[in-house]
Amino acid sequence: MAKRKVVIVGYGTIGERIADAVRMQDDMELVGVVDAAATLPVRAAAERRVDFPIFAANAEFKKTMESAGIPVAGLMPDILKEAEVVVDAASPGIGAQNRKIYEEFGLPAIFQGGEKHGVAESIFYPMANYDKCRQLKYLQMFSCNTTGIARQAFNCDQAFGLKEMFCAIVRRSADISETHKGPVDALLPQKIPTHQAEDFSQVNPDIHVVTAVVTAPVCHGHATMMSFDLKQKATQAEILEMFRNEPRIRLFKLADGFISTSHIFDYNRDRGTSRGDMYEVPVWEETVYLDHDGMKLYSTNMIPQEAIVIPENIDAIRCLLGTEEAAADAIAHTNQCLGLK
Ligand code: NAD
Repeated sequence: MAKRKVVIVGYGTIGERIADAVRMQDDMELVGVVDAAATLPVRAAAERRVDFPIFAANAEFKKTMESAGIPVAGLMPDILKEAEVVVDAASPGIGAQNRKIYEEFGLPAIFQGGEKHGVAESIFYPMANYDKCRQLKYLQMFSCNTTGIARQAFNCDQAFGLKEMFCAIVRRSADISETHKGPVDALLPQKIPTHQAEDFSQVNPDIHVVTAVVTAPVCHGHATMMSFDLKQKATQAEILEMFRNEPRIRLFKLADGFISTSHIFDYNRDRGTSRGDMYEVPVWEETVYLDHDGMKLYSTNMIPQEAIVIPENIDAIRCLLGTEEAAADAIAHTNQCLGLK
């Protein structure tokens, strides 16, 4: 069967990673990426002589990109004509403007977590609403933290029933290139509940959730302390087995030397993952703690913010294109192509 044609609009932190992941799939091809400036990811792509064309969002951006030496293949409409689906990973707010353009081209589209609610017809999370989203054309992804929370929550809900949860998020303040952002020597609390609870509730209103955030002066990953109220008793061994069997969660041991988010990031660089990324949610084994006679689960995890949303973006492409009818098949297909076991 012919590979399905995907365009990425916004080739930044998330867009460049989705581009790589699309190219790892056996049933889709990246026909082009669109950006608005000669940013460092765009310059790096040009220097690497990537085998997909780079387009400019408009004629003015094309001029500035070309003057920086970027080979620009054309303007956004030129490549949208070729596309079957768009993944919009442009700067927050741009997706909402672009949706009108995608509608003109009759193209289904996926938007990222930084867009305002309402940019799409539904938030998408494959374990929760794949079937419903198959009828839609415009989907929005969870943010990085909500993706990590959802992976643990939906597994717990399926295995033991989940009544309620509280997630305390220590949020990285900035990606490594965002030197204009702070804080440098402070922890910034946010009003409770934070947006992650609202986003999660849109997808599953039956699990009561409260989230709290403190922003910390780090770049490589958020950390989240979770508290789950289960409907059925569980043991620590059962929870660890459940996490071990989920390809999008990976257990790490403090005792093995994974004593911080930075150690996990460094380990990823040493084992040679692209950009030091990982798609899985790292959960520290020693933090998995059962209380109240097995009815309450606590755990602490890292959220590698730049890569964690990528597998679900690929699932969303399969959902919109209808290339897999069932959520489980879509997830398994994505996992297999991304090497998640
Ligand atoms: P980024 O700034 O790294 O990349 C955005 C890209 O969009 C830039 O290359 C920019 O030049 C480009 N752009 C701006 N205007 C454009 C236009 N009109 N047409 C085409 N491209 C345009 O941002 P990012 O971190 O990749 O974030 C993208 C989205 O993903 C946001 O909604 C964000 O909230 C979400 N997200 C980010 C992270 C993260 O950790 N960075 C994690 C999860 C979700």
